[in-house]
Amino acid sequence: MIKVAINGYGTIGKRVADAVSAQKDMEIIGISKTKPSAEALIAVQRGYPIYIADMSKKDAFEKAGIPVAGSVEDMLKKADIVVDGTPGGVGESNKALYEKAGVKAIWQGGEDHEVAGFSFNAHANYKDAIGRQFVRVVSCNTTGLCRVIKAVDDAFGVVKVRAVMVRRGADPHVVKKGPIDAVVLDPPTIPSHHGPDVNTVLPHIDIVTMAMIVPTTQMHMHAITIELKKEVSRDDVLAVMRSHNRIGLVQPKTAIKSTAELKEYVMDMGRPRSDLWENGIFEASVNMVGKELFFFQAIHQEADVVIENVDAIRAMMGEVTDPETSIRMTNEAMQFTAL
Ligand code: NAD
Repeated sequence: MIKVAINGYGTIGKRVADAVSAQKDMEIIGISKTKPSAEALIAVQRGYPIYIADMSKKDAFEKAGIPVAGSVEDMLKKADIVVDGTPGGVGESNKALYEKAGVKAIWQGGEDHEVAGFSFNAHANYKDAIGRQFVRVVSCNTTGLCRVIKAVDDAFGVVKVRAVMVRRGADPHVVKKGPIDAVVLDPPTIPSHHGPDVNTVLPHIDIVTMAMIVPTTQMHMHAITIELKKEVSRDDVLAVMRSHNRIGLVQPKTAIKSTAELKEYVMDMGRPRSDLWENGIFEASVNMVGKELFFFQAIHQEADVVIENVDAIRAMMGEVTDPETSIRMTNEAMQFTAL
């Protein structure tokens, strides 16, 4: 069993903890919290040992009925690998701690590529992650872009990608962030950071991205144009998307044409936390004009990177060297079949 610690048990960390627990070859040896909270109480229910970043808060945890197993340093001693789920920018400051403990570490997309020197997407570069000490799983938007660009590039060859990201303002539980009534250009300059971030995984892709933030919490929406190297039919493209185990097609018969309806659909399917782990490509939007491919895809920011973290763990530990084997193991353990 691969012993996994989660440092930073928030939106991403708590989901990765549950995804890891579902795997046959991995176990959670501990999670960390900075203060007693609803999430910490759920971690107790789940049976995850709780470690804390600041031992002076031990009494506060115990008063809230949350047993403390030790410090983050104690947790790292027991782990083969730590998944850092702390807020963007905080993760980098933990690097010295991980180096000192001699533990493998995974950071999230809120950190720069340089923190690990390697950026990961399971379908794109699993083999290059084998045996590494440090890896960064790219952000939710970059993960969604990499999955589909890699699949289309392998099948038909990509000349260039142009994409507009309509991003959610905040995650649903975040009460202090906006916008409440505005479309915010983020950034107002072009390109946005997403294109260069795709290049940390797929360096040969010509990509320019633009991004804005809107008042919604459900998901991001991407409007994507890809110029292909050859003229292919819409059906050829749909076949590639349909056969991909982390790309879902939102079928016209569902009559879904919004992130809200898609989220409801996934909730009704009984997915944990109503998580959409796959890219949600709207089948009706997939269209070819000459050599240009057009489509919309929904990306659930809280979910798509979770399964990538599981594969990153497996690659870094080096037991499973075939990407498709790991991806299948991860998906099956979570009873996940793409839409
Ligand atoms: P979050 O704020 O929901 O959770 C972060 C957790 O880390 C909180 O529980 C916080 O208390 C804890 N924490 C803070 N400082 C800590 C410390 N020093 N030691 C231990 N724990 C600490 O954040 P999140 O949304 O889960 O984001 C985590 C990372 O994942 C970021 O890099 C972010 O950019 C990335 N990411 C987030 C999303 C998203 O949409 N939420 C999507 C993809 C990637």
